[in-house]
Amino acid sequence: MTPTRDPNTSTSRWRLWPLGLAVAVLAACGGDGGGDTVATPGATSPGTGTSPGGTTPVRVKAFRAAGLVTAAPTLRTDASGGQTVSVAVLAQDGPRTLTTPAVAPARAAALQAALVPGNLVDWLPSATDANVVQVAADAAVTFNVILAKGNATATQFDLQKYGAAVGRNADAPGPMVAAGWVYAKTGATVTVGDGSMVTADQAGRAYPAPIKRYEETYTLAPDARVFNVNTASYGQSGASTLAALPVTADYRHATTARQAAYLVFDDNHENAATARVAAIWYFTPQATSDGKPVWDVPTLSTMLADKGTDPVSGLPYASINATSVTTAPYTRSTEPFEMVKGTMYYVGDNEVASYLLKADMGTADPADDKVIKIDAGWANSGYQYWRNLELVGVDPRSVTDIWLTHGHGDHYGTVVEQLKMMDNAGKPINLWASREDVLGVKADLQGNAFDIAGALPATETVIRARTNNYYVYDKWYDYGNVQIMVIWSPGHTPGTTNMLFRVKNPADGRFYTFGYHGGYGFNGLNSPTAANGWLRLSFQHGFSYLQNTVDVDLVAPQHTNQFPIVEVYQALKAYNRDPANVARQLTMLDAMRSKVFDSPVVDGVNLTGEFSNQLEKRRSVASYRASDAANATYRSIETSGPFKPGRENGLTHIGATVLDGGRIIQGFVGPQNKNPAIPLLANGVVTSTDNYVNDPGGFYVQVSIDVKDSIYKGFLPQGYAQFSPGLNATVTYNGGPVESVHAAKGTFHPPEVLRTQRLNSLADAQAVLATLSRGREVTVSLTPASEIVVPADVRQTFR
Ligand SMILES: [Zn+2]
Repeated sequence: MTPTRDPNTSTSRWRLWPLGLAVAVLAACGGDGGGDTVATPGATSPGTGTSPGGTTPVRVKAFRAAGLVTAAPTLRTDASGGQTVSVAVLAQDGPRTLTTPAVAPARAAALQAALVPGNLVDWLPSATDANVVQVAADAAVTFNVILAKGNATATQFDLQKYGAAVGRNADAPGPMVAAGWVYAKTGATVTVGDGSMVTADQAGRAYPAPIKRYEETYTLAPDARVFNVNTASYGQSGASTLAALPVTADYRHATTARQAAYLVFDDNHENAATARVAAIWYFTPQATSDGKPVWDVPTLSTMLADKGTDPVSGLPYASINATSVTTAPYTRSTEPFEMVKGTMYYVGDNEVASYLLKADMGTADPADDKVIKIDAGWANSGYQYWRNLELVGVDPRSVTDIWLTHGHGDHYGTVVEQLKMMDNAGKPINLWASREDVLGVKADLQGNAFDIAGALPATETVIRARTNNYYVYDKWYDYGNVQIMVIWSPGHTPGTTNMLFRVKNPADGRFYTFGYHGGYGFNGLNSPTAANGWLRLSFQHGFSYLQNTVDVDLVAPQHTNQFPIVEVYQALKAYNRDPANVARQLTMLDAMRSKVFDSPVVDGVNLTGEFSNQLEKRRSVASYRASDAANATYRSIETSGPFKPGRENGLTHIGATVLDGGRIIQGFVGPQNKNPAIPLLANGVVTSTDNYVNDPGGFYVQVSIDVKDSIYKGFLPQGYAQFSPGLNATVTYNGGPVESVHAAKGTFHPPEVLRTQRLNSLADAQAVLATLSRGREVTVSLTPASEIVVPADVRQTFR
């Protein structure tokens, strides 16, 4: 169909795209507007419009229209069975009832899905009637959901330049969309943010001005429209005025009623500097915040111990647990920081990590450079991550690759948002994931077949469809100054991966290896079940495997309660801000410890690495009976299994081959990253979770070993029934791989990484270790949990 222009609707169409048109008028003077795609409003192909005041032809961008749905759609069936869908919206140029042409019932059903009251949607108006919507070839994308308010009292946040936006059309990115709490307005501007404000560094030294990291002030178009959306009764929604737009009273965390709004701009991110607000939808009743304070360090951090008592709650600040990230992202924001000069950055929040790696192959050709983002955080925290990227000098749209560790929502949360942002910009991006968490576990390396669902929910259809790379495990991907190895480490989920980053420090030319263990949480594994039995064994195995086989300099934790990386940075920052330290500024590589400061020194080196220590904490939780006593929901492997098949009563004097020289593992040392060079790290940082496993006086000898028993073959067979003493019940376990995720095909006895029972001193551990050498044939006894029995004479452990 050829769009025809109706002079009677030109005014309304002018109003629909007032500023896109105004900007385009300027850009178009003298001819083609510098490559801007132009079209008659609403048309899918370029065309020519007419200026509102006269006859001068102007060129306008063919932006999709946007509006907020205020009522459920209605359906009308005509005589021939076609159905038209109508819906009331507060469109950016005013209230409208949009109607589709008659379509087949299935298509009508598909296009209604987005039309939920409270959704900000976009659509393509007909060229001739702004109230008529063009139905897309795929009816489901006729209306696209930009943001969904619904009836939620929680607030969404969206930066102007990054994140959710009106959809791309006719080769041009759609207009920008912002969201947040309204903090100020003038006749010409509106200020929107998430309310987080930091006034002093961790040492209590005030900043010159309070830092409002996620707040932005926008210029209003002269004819910007303002709407009031009543989320308690959408039918009461309607046109409003800037004068009526409420403003959040103040920034105090006690101020819980806050004014939320969505804003649509008149231009896209390519013209962010000149774009103006075209429409504001503000929500009543007002949104609520949780009334809890905001810090750059994690909630419950021991670094808050000197911050006193909150006058609002009466609780010590150190005792206030922030509201969940999903409902109150502002309580978990933190600033980004550089870890390796110009190359590696922390860009997550103060709860979950995300890392950025800038890889340069060293050639003159920028085409082989990569900007790799590791994991994607919580879904509604995207605005924080985009701003954090910007703050370290990286445009979020320059990311070339996203690598996901495992299929949980706190790590893939912003992937779809990033994909949409890239699609809107017309830029490609690679998405990498664990095959096992996307497609499930079908086999191990020995060729055993399984059929275990991966962790990525079936509903994540976009991530499933857009994952275009699965990791090849145990090999270094070489990107020049950045190299990455991925190790399949099931446990937390079937497809959990551990990642090692080798990052070259331009300051000294050295590569530093960071250990990033994806999937450290014990949630879902607390007590044995049919489904989690193999995962419990794999979880335990993975930690020992990594402790014994990988060489790691520094920890890159996945969550800040695993290793206090955010606190280390804030301590570093406070140190560097101390006027006394102006002449001796330090970096994260100075602040981060490779070895546990208080671990014993053996041959001139601290025994325990920080990465190994981090792994030990959670390995202890999974393994030892202390967990059963500490937490009523925990059943350790030691007390409750699963036990490896055939070892239910332990093994006595079984033959085995030692496969490496073994190593001494110290029990978990609670204070992490103790570093007396930095005052706030002088005693290390103790994270609050599961601290009962603190056991710096315990030692184990851990060895890669081939145990010559005839039943256990490195995996849990399907339907294996076993009595669990801790549960006092028999569990019939689903099958799954354990050591067989690493063992070569055909290996009958996959190497295990087993450890002794607890030894009471380093001297005992050294005495045991002295008896080990690679290739030695030994006799050992095992407990049901496959711990190597330590006899009274510890030197007889391996005989
Ligand atoms: Zn997870």
